[in-house]
Amino acid sequence: MPDPAYTTLALVLTYRCALRCRYCPVLKRDESMPRDLALMAVDELLTDDVALIRFSGGDPLGEFATVEALLDHVKRPVRFKLTTNGVDLTDAILDRLEADSRVDLVVSVDGPRDVHCAQRLAHRESADAYDWFERFAPRLARFARPVQVNLVVAPDNASRLVESVHAVARYKLFRYNLLPAYYVEWSDAALAALEESFRKLAAYFEAGRRRGLPFSLANAENVSRQPLYVDALVIDVDGECYDNDAVASRLLHDEKRQCSLGNVRTPERIDLKRIGRENWPARLRARLSEKAWESTQRVDDLLARISS
Ligand code: SF4
Repeated sequence: MPDPAYTTLALVLTYRCALRCRYCPVLKRDESMPRDLALMAVDELLTDDVALIRFSGGDPLGEFATVEALLDHVKRPVRFKLTTNGVDLTDAILDRLEADSRVDLVVSVDGPRDVHCAQRLAHRESADAYDWFERFAPRLARFARPVQVNLVVAPDNASRLVESVHAVARYKLFRYNLLPAYYVEWSDAALAALEESFRKLAAYFEAGRRRGLPFSLANAENVSRQPLYVDALVIDVDGECYDNDAVASRLLHDEKRQCSLGNVRTPERIDLKRIGRENWPARLRARLSEKAWESTQRVDDLLARISS
Protein backbone atom coordinates (compact mmCIF):
# COMPACT_ATOMS: atom_id res chain seq x y z
CA MET A 1 0.00 0.00 0.00
CA PRO A 2 1.40 3.42 -0.87
CA ASP A 3 2.12 5.76 2.01
CA PRO A 4 -0.62 8.44 2.18
CA ALA A 5 1.99 11.13 2.81
CA TYR A 6 2.05 12.29 -0.77
CA THR A 7 -0.80 14.20 -2.35
CA THR A 8 0.97 15.44 -5.49
CA LEU A 9 2.47 13.44 -8.33
CA ALA A 10 4.93 15.38 -10.49
CA LEU A 11 5.92 13.91 -13.83
CA VAL A 12 9.11 15.25 -15.40
CA LEU A 13 8.03 14.63 -18.98
CA THR A 14 11.12 15.95 -20.74
CA TYR A 15 14.41 17.74 -20.24
CA ARG A 16 14.06 19.48 -23.60
CA CYS A 17 13.27 23.20 -23.67
CA ALA A 18 13.20 25.75 -26.48
CA LEU A 19 14.72 28.35 -24.17
CA ARG A 20 17.84 28.75 -22.05
CA CYS A 21 16.83 31.21 -19.37
CA ARG A 22 19.80 32.81 -17.68
CA TYR A 23 18.62 31.88 -14.19
CA CYS A 24 17.35 28.40 -15.05
CA PRO A 25 18.65 25.65 -12.78
CA VAL A 26 17.01 22.83 -14.73
CA LEU A 27 19.11 20.24 -16.48
CA LYS A 28 18.80 20.29 -20.30
CA ARG A 29 19.06 17.02 -22.17
CA ASP A 30 17.43 15.47 -25.18
CA GLU A 31 15.58 13.03 -22.96
CA SER A 32 11.85 12.44 -22.44
CA MET A 33 9.64 10.06 -20.52
CA PRO A 34 8.36 7.22 -22.71
CA ARG A 35 4.57 7.33 -22.93
CA ASP A 36 4.13 3.80 -21.61
CA LEU A 37 6.19 4.74 -18.57
CA ALA A 38 4.04 7.82 -17.90
CA LEU A 39 0.89 5.72 -18.03
CA MET A 40 2.48 3.07 -15.82
CA ALA A 41 3.45 5.78 -13.31
CA VAL A 42 -0.12 6.93 -12.80
CA ASP A 43 -1.40 3.36 -12.75
CA GLU A 44 1.05 2.47 -9.97
CA LEU A 45 1.21 5.68 -7.97
CA LEU A 46 -2.08 7.51 -8.31
CA THR A 47 -3.70 6.78 -4.98
CA ASP A 48 -6.93 8.21 -3.64
CA ASP A 49 -4.81 10.64 -1.61
CA VAL A 50 -3.33 12.27 -4.68
CA ALA A 51 -5.16 15.50 -5.47
CA LEU A 52 -2.78 16.99 -8.04
CA ILE A 53 -0.73 15.76 -10.99
CA ARG A 54 1.88 18.23 -12.22
CA PHE A 55 3.48 18.13 -15.65
CA SER A 56 6.93 19.64 -15.62
CA GLY A 57 10.27 19.61 -17.41
CA GLY A 58 11.99 21.22 -19.38
CA ASP A 59 8.87 22.20 -21.22
CA PRO A 60 6.12 19.57 -21.04
CA LEU A 61 4.55 20.89 -24.24
CA GLY A 62 7.46 19.14 -25.93
CA GLU A 63 5.67 15.91 -25.03
CA PHE A 64 2.11 17.06 -25.47
CA ALA A 65 1.00 13.73 -26.92
CA THR A 66 1.93 12.18 -23.56
CA VAL A 67 0.02 14.91 -21.73
CA GLU A 68 -3.05 14.11 -23.83
CA ALA A 69 -2.64 10.39 -23.24
CA LEU A 70 -2.51 10.98 -19.49
CA LEU A 71 -5.56 13.24 -19.52
CA ASP A 72 -7.43 10.54 -21.43
CA HIS A 73 -6.13 7.76 -19.21
CA VAL A 74 -6.79 9.23 -15.78
CA LYS A 75 -10.50 9.20 -15.10
CA ARG A 76 -10.38 10.41 -11.50
CA PRO A 77 -11.30 13.98 -10.55
CA VAL A 78 -7.72 14.98 -9.70
CA ARG A 79 -6.39 18.37 -10.74
CA PHE A 80 -3.64 18.67 -13.34
CA LYS A 81 -1.19 21.53 -13.51
CA LEU A 82 0.88 22.13 -16.64
CA THR A 83 3.69 24.68 -16.51
CA THR A 84 5.05 25.93 -19.82
CA ASN A 85 7.27 28.66 -21.24
CA GLY A 86 4.48 29.13 -23.79
CA VAL A 87 6.69 29.04 -26.88
CA ASP A 88 4.98 25.96 -28.31
CA LEU A 89 1.40 26.90 -27.44
CA THR A 90 -1.13 26.61 -30.24
CA ASP A 91 -4.86 27.17 -30.42
CA ALA A 92 -5.35 23.41 -30.62
CA ILE A 93 -3.32 22.85 -27.44
CA LEU A 94 -5.23 25.56 -25.62
CA ASP A 95 -8.51 24.05 -26.84
CA ARG A 96 -7.48 20.66 -25.46
CA LEU A 97 -6.36 21.99 -22.08
CA GLU A 98 -9.36 24.25 -21.70
CA ALA A 99 -11.80 21.45 -22.54
CA ASP A 100 -10.64 19.41 -19.55
CA SER A 101 -11.94 21.18 -16.45
CA ARG A 102 -9.34 19.40 -14.31
CA VAL A 103 -6.44 21.25 -15.97
CA ASP A 104 -4.83 24.43 -14.66
CA LEU A 105 -2.37 26.21 -16.90
CA VAL A 106 0.75 28.02 -15.73
CA VAL A 107 2.76 30.17 -18.14
CA SER A 108 6.11 31.84 -17.58
CA VAL A 109 6.23 35.55 -18.42
CA ASP A 110 8.73 37.89 -16.82
CA GLY A 111 7.29 41.26 -17.89
CA PRO A 112 7.50 43.40 -21.01
CA ARG A 113 9.39 42.08 -24.02
CA ASP A 114 12.75 43.63 -23.17
CA VAL A 115 12.73 42.35 -19.56
CA HIS A 116 11.52 38.91 -20.61
CA CYS A 117 13.86 38.43 -23.55
CA ALA A 118 16.92 39.68 -21.67
CA GLN A 119 16.60 36.60 -19.45
CA ARG A 120 14.69 34.05 -21.51
CA LEU A 121 17.09 33.34 -24.32
CA ALA A 122 15.99 31.30 -27.30
CA HIS A 123 17.76 28.00 -27.75
CA ARG A 124 15.78 26.53 -30.61
CA GLU A 125 16.45 28.64 -33.69
CA SER A 126 12.80 29.19 -34.58
CA ALA A 127 11.77 30.03 -31.02
CA ASP A 128 10.84 33.58 -30.13
CA ALA A 129 10.55 33.84 -26.39
CA TYR A 130 7.79 36.49 -26.43
CA ASP A 131 5.81 36.38 -29.69
CA TRP A 132 3.62 33.63 -28.28
CA PHE A 133 2.60 35.79 -25.36
CA GLU A 134 1.58 38.76 -27.48
CA ARG A 135 -0.40 36.39 -29.67
CA PHE A 136 -2.12 34.33 -26.96
CA ALA A 137 -2.43 36.69 -24.00
CA PRO A 138 -6.01 37.75 -24.87
CA ARG A 139 -6.96 34.10 -25.14
CA LEU A 140 -5.25 33.25 -21.84
CA ALA A 141 -7.28 36.02 -20.22
CA ARG A 142 -10.46 34.34 -21.47
CA PHE A 143 -9.33 30.82 -20.49
CA ALA A 144 -12.01 28.92 -18.62
CA ARG A 145 -9.96 28.95 -15.42
CA PRO A 146 -7.53 31.64 -14.18
CA VAL A 147 -4.14 31.15 -15.84
CA GLN A 148 -1.25 31.52 -13.40
CA VAL A 149 1.76 33.55 -14.48
CA ASN A 150 5.13 32.50 -13.13
CA LEU A 151 7.04 35.77 -13.15
CA VAL A 152 10.76 35.59 -12.42
CA VAL A 153 12.56 38.65 -11.09
CA ALA A 154 16.26 38.62 -11.88
CA PRO A 155 18.84 40.74 -10.05
CA ASP A 156 19.29 43.09 -12.99
CA ASN A 157 15.59 43.87 -13.37
CA ALA A 158 14.53 43.88 -9.72
CA SER A 159 13.84 47.60 -9.84
CA ARG A 160 11.35 47.05 -12.70
CA LEU A 161 9.11 44.54 -10.94
CA VAL A 162 5.96 46.68 -10.79
CA GLU A 163 6.39 47.61 -14.45
CA SER A 164 6.85 43.92 -15.25
CA VAL A 165 3.68 42.86 -13.47
CA HIS A 166 1.77 45.73 -15.03
CA ALA A 167 2.92 44.69 -18.52
CA VAL A 168 1.27 41.29 -17.95
CA ALA A 169 -1.74 42.52 -15.97
CA ARG A 170 -2.79 44.87 -18.78
CA TYR A 171 -3.74 41.68 -20.62
CA LYS A 172 -6.12 40.91 -17.74
CA LEU A 173 -3.97 38.19 -16.20
CA PHE A 174 -4.18 38.59 -12.46
CA ARG A 175 -2.85 35.43 -10.83
CA TYR A 176 0.89 35.42 -10.11
CA ASN A 177 3.56 33.19 -8.72
CA LEU A 178 6.50 35.52 -8.07
CA LEU A 179 9.90 33.94 -8.30
CA PRO A 180 13.02 35.89 -7.43
CA ALA A 181 15.85 34.20 -9.31
CA TYR A 182 17.00 31.54 -6.87
CA TYR A 183 20.38 29.85 -6.50
CA VAL A 184 22.17 32.76 -8.16
CA GLU A 185 24.15 35.57 -6.56
CA TRP A 186 22.37 38.85 -5.72
CA SER A 187 24.36 42.00 -4.91
CA ASP A 188 23.31 44.13 -1.94
CA ALA A 189 22.08 46.79 -4.36
CA ALA A 190 19.90 44.26 -6.22
CA LEU A 191 18.50 42.96 -2.93
CA ALA A 192 17.65 46.51 -1.87
CA ALA A 193 15.94 47.08 -5.23
CA LEU A 194 13.95 43.87 -4.79
CA GLU A 195 12.83 44.86 -1.30
CA GLU A 196 11.69 48.25 -2.56
CA SER A 197 9.94 46.67 -5.55
CA PHE A 198 8.06 44.20 -3.36
CA ARG A 199 6.89 47.11 -1.21
CA LYS A 200 5.64 48.98 -4.27
CA LEU A 201 4.07 45.84 -5.69
CA ALA A 202 2.05 45.24 -2.53
CA ALA A 203 0.66 48.77 -2.95
CA TYR A 204 0.03 48.13 -6.67
CA PHE A 205 -1.94 44.95 -5.90
CA GLU A 206 -3.89 46.70 -3.17
CA ALA A 207 -4.81 49.58 -5.47
CA GLY A 208 -5.86 47.11 -8.14
CA ARG A 209 -8.03 45.15 -5.74
CA ARG A 210 -9.74 48.36 -4.66
CA ARG A 211 -10.63 48.83 -8.35
CA GLY A 212 -12.08 45.32 -8.42
CA LEU A 213 -9.15 43.60 -10.17
CA PRO A 214 -8.77 40.03 -8.83
CA PHE A 215 -5.02 40.03 -8.16
CA SER A 216 -3.89 36.92 -6.33
CA LEU A 217 -0.57 35.38 -5.36
CA ALA A 218 0.00 31.66 -5.59
CA ASN A 219 3.19 31.90 -3.52
CA ALA A 220 1.42 31.59 -0.20
CA GLU A 221 0.03 28.20 -1.26
CA ASN A 222 3.42 26.71 -2.15
CA VAL A 223 5.11 25.32 0.92
CA SER A 224 8.17 23.12 0.48
CA ARG A 225 11.44 22.24 2.08
CA GLN A 226 13.45 24.78 0.09
CA PRO A 227 12.74 27.68 -2.25
CA LEU A 228 11.63 27.01 -5.82
CA TYR A 229 11.41 23.26 -5.54
CA VAL A 230 8.23 21.39 -4.78
CA ASP A 231 7.61 18.52 -2.41
CA ALA A 232 5.80 15.78 -4.30
CA LEU A 233 6.26 12.25 -5.44
CA VAL A 234 8.34 13.06 -8.51
CA ILE A 235 8.72 10.62 -11.38
CA ASP A 236 11.78 11.40 -13.47
CA VAL A 237 12.01 10.78 -17.22
CA ASP A 238 13.55 7.36 -16.59
CA GLY A 239 10.94 6.29 -14.05
CA GLU A 240 13.08 6.90 -10.96
CA CYS A 241 10.99 8.30 -8.10
CA TYR A 242 12.01 11.06 -5.70
CA ASP A 243 10.31 13.15 -3.05
CA ASN A 244 11.09 16.61 -4.43
CA ASP A 245 11.49 18.12 -7.90
CA ALA A 246 14.96 19.43 -7.06
CA VAL A 247 15.98 16.28 -8.91
CA ALA A 248 15.49 18.23 -12.15
CA SER A 249 18.29 20.61 -11.14
CA ARG A 250 21.50 20.33 -13.09
CA LEU A 251 23.31 20.88 -9.78
CA LEU A 252 22.16 17.51 -8.49
CA HIS A 253 22.29 15.53 -11.68
CA ASP A 254 25.35 13.49 -10.69
CA GLU A 255 24.10 12.48 -7.27
CA LYS A 256 20.33 12.27 -7.52
CA ARG A 257 20.23 8.54 -8.06
CA GLN A 258 21.41 8.14 -4.47
CA CYS A 259 18.09 9.71 -3.43
CA SER A 260 15.85 7.53 -5.59
CA LEU A 261 12.97 5.81 -3.84
CA GLY A 262 12.80 3.20 -6.59
CA ASN A 263 11.62 2.93 -10.18
CA VAL A 264 8.15 2.82 -11.64
CA ARG A 265 9.11 -0.25 -13.66
CA THR A 266 9.57 -2.20 -10.42
CA PRO A 267 6.81 -0.60 -8.34
CA GLU A 268 6.94 -3.21 -5.59
CA ARG A 269 10.42 -1.93 -4.68
CA ILE A 270 9.52 1.78 -4.39
CA ASP A 271 10.25 2.81 -0.81
CA LEU A 272 7.51 5.32 0.00
CA LYS A 273 8.50 5.31 3.67
CA ARG A 274 11.45 7.51 2.71
CA ILE A 275 9.22 10.34 1.50
CA GLY A 276 10.14 13.57 3.29
CA ARG A 277 13.46 12.27 4.61
CA GLU A 278 15.91 13.48 1.97
CA ASN A 279 17.86 16.61 2.89
CA TRP A 280 17.61 18.47 -0.41
CA PRO A 281 18.63 21.86 1.04
CA ALA A 282 21.93 20.39 2.25
CA ARG A 283 22.60 18.83 -1.12
CA LEU A 284 21.91 22.10 -2.93
CA ARG A 285 23.94 24.13 -0.49
CA ALA A 286 26.96 21.92 -1.02
CA ARG A 287 26.84 22.72 -4.74
CA LEU A 288 26.48 26.51 -4.47
CA SER A 289 28.74 29.40 -3.60
CA GLU A 290 28.14 30.85 -0.13
CA LYS A 291 26.92 34.05 -1.81
CA ALA A 292 24.37 32.23 -3.99
CA TRP A 293 23.08 30.26 -1.02
CA GLU A 294 22.81 33.33 1.18
CA SER A 295 21.14 35.28 -1.66
CA THR A 296 18.58 32.52 -2.03
CA GLN A 297 17.63 32.74 1.62
CA ARG A 298 17.44 36.52 1.51
CA VAL A 299 15.26 36.81 -1.61
CA ASP A 300 13.02 34.11 -0.22
CA ASP A 301 12.64 35.99 3.07
CA LEU A 302 11.72 39.13 1.15
CA LEU A 303 9.21 37.18 -0.90
CA ALA A 304 7.66 35.69 2.22
CA ARG A 305 6.81 39.19 3.45
CA ILE A 306 4.77 40.06 0.37
CA SER A 307 3.19 36.61 0.19
CA SER A 308 1.85 36.54 3.73
S1 SF4 B 1 11.66 27.89 -19.86
FE1 SF4 B 1 11.85 26.99 -17.82
S2 SF4 B 1 12.93 25.04 -18.13
FE2 SF4 B 1 13.19 26.26 -20.01
S3 SF4 B 1 15.15 27.31 -19.72
FE3 SF4 B 1 13.54 28.69 -19.01
S4 SF4 B 1 13.32 28.35 -16.80
FE4 SF4 B 1 14.46 26.61 -17.70
